[in-house]
Amino acid sequence: MAKPTFVVYREAIRAGKAPEDHPSREARLRELRGGRPVEAGAYVLYWMQMYMRGSENAALDEAIHRANELDLPLLVYQGLNSNYPEANARVHTFILECARDVALELAERGISYRFHLRRTRPARGSVLVHLARNAACVVVDDFPAFILPRVTDALVRHTADAGVPVVAVDANGLVPLQAISKRQYAAYTIRPRLHARVAENLVPAPAPVLQNRDTPLLPVSSDRFVELGSLDDAGLAAIVLSCDIDQAVLPSLRHTGGRRAAKTKLARFIEDDLERYADLRSDPGQAATSGLSPYMHFGCLSTLEVVRQVLLADANDESTDAFLEELVVRRELSYNFCHYTPTKDHSSLAVLPDWVKKTLSEHAADERNPTYTTVQLEAGRTHDEIWNAAQRELVSTGTFQGYLRMLWGKNIIRWTDSYEQAQEFMIRMHHRYALDGRNPNTYASILWCFGLHDRAFREQAVLGKLRPLNSSSTSRKFDLEPYFQMVETAVEERAMPILSDSPSKP
Ligand SMILES: Cc1cc2nc3c(=O)[nH]c(=O)nc-3n(C[C@H](O)[C@H](O)[C@H](O)COP(=O)(O)OP(=O)(O)OC[C@H]3O[C@@H](n4cnc5c(N)ncnc54)[C@H](O)[C@@H]3O)c2cc1C
Repeated sequence: MAKPTFVVYREAIRAGKAPEDHPSREARLRELRGGRPVEAGAYVLYWMQMYMRGSENAALDEAIHRANELDLPLLVYQGLNSNYPEANARVHTFILECARDVALELAERGISYRFHLRRTRPARGSVLVHLARNAACVVVDDFPAFILPRVTDALVRHTADAGVPVVAVDANGLVPLQAISKRQYAAYTIRPRLHARVAENLVPAPAPVLQNRDTPLLPVSSDRFVELGSLDDAGLAAIVLSCDIDQAVLPSLRHTGGRRAAKTKLARFIEDDLERYADLRSDPGQAATSGLSPYMHFGCLSTLEVVRQVLLADANDESTDAFLEELVVRRELSYNFCHYTPTKDHSSLAVLPDWVKKTLSEHAADERNPTYTTVQLEAGRTHDEIWNAAQRELVSTGTFQGYLRMLWGKNIIRWTDSYEQAQEFMIRMHHRYALDGRNPNTYASILWCFGLHDRAFREQAVLGKLRPLNSSSTSRKFDLEPYFQMVETAVEERAMPILSDSPSKP
């Protein structure tokens, strides 16, 4: 059967009219605590966690609708603690840059926004809980991975006696997660299900306008909040330095956070690289991919706005389809995996299909040769210069090339003492260095290296029937010189202590 194509939706996008059967608001909602809005509530609270954008955001829209229905003001709240796993200057900087753009965009729309920064750990007391207990109802982001499900559950528990309704809104992808009713086996099973829902999700309902523009009366003094909108880069860097986080993982010089940078990156990709994406996306020397993954992770762009702009760009059909296959099918497959898998299992090999478990148990005792300690791996000191370059790109820039990520993962499996150690190391590297880490793509793609969403191949040592990828075929396939040079430049401009003598603790 031919693969369904995205280019058939160009006309619908151009017409710009929401279809009659446009899904209702409810399609993206999950009630975490039902009930009527609290009458004494002074405002509707939207706790923005992962969708860091002040427009094109179904969760923000839902909060505005609820505020309008109750004739209440809206408060958008964001918080940043220092106690998330591997908390560091790189991730903090990117988040603050994103939040600064949110502050500016919401100010333009006349929507109240407060940002709370907790510089020290452990976190004690909670501004958020205080705000939530005084709200008529609370809207939260429905992000299915990392610490998000746990901290959202905690909010629901800590506001139980106040009885404030809490609703989670899924603005993760093009198609709502619950529109696909169960965990999917592979891209070929989710692809037709997604395509069946694409048309109805292509044109969003008109964005609601907030009616009540009063400044909400807060039960918390305003000096608890950081004013981000007027903050320049030096001020932002000073805030990061004041936090009790790992300052050794330096901010990325290659990726600036926020919606403005995301829009620029998307426009540049469409202008310069989309046309050649189908042919060159795997080639590390060509840098022909979008570089959008940190922005997609932190929600600086909605999937829909990227889909819309890519379709309107009229690039060749093959490249348009290849790109949207990654952005929609592969990405939403990862979200589907995390949505239907308990969070604790995102980092476990126990969720793998039976054929994988069988082949891994048959090869668990195979001799590994060579082997490296996690300290050697983290420092990018193996015999394999392609692998080292990929690792060093990750450490110094905060992302690394997509094709090499696959090779990187396969070689870690070959070179560590056990499959569990390999998985644990890959996740830790992503938590520590990757700006797009902590995402459903992180956990599902690492598991992909172990056969998730994949098929069996010819058996070999250590990998068993997992898909084999190796460095010698990679160097035969591509001219890697431009890639090596790019990495060397990145390493030089962002010399990190980690590359010499301060590896993170396993
Ligand atoms: C071991 C391993 C770890 C990975 N870790 C992450 C991670 O932490 N975060 C992350 O976002 N992606 C991860 N990926 C998937 C993929 O490599 C990256 O999304 C991609 O390289 C990002 O570069 P780009 O934005 O230029 O992608 P483009 O090729 O421009 O694609 C556009 C967008 O589509 C999505 N996408 C692209 N490729 C994939 C894919 N294979 N699976 C799912 N979604 C995809 C991303 O959101 C990406 O930004 C990982 C892959 C592997 C093999």
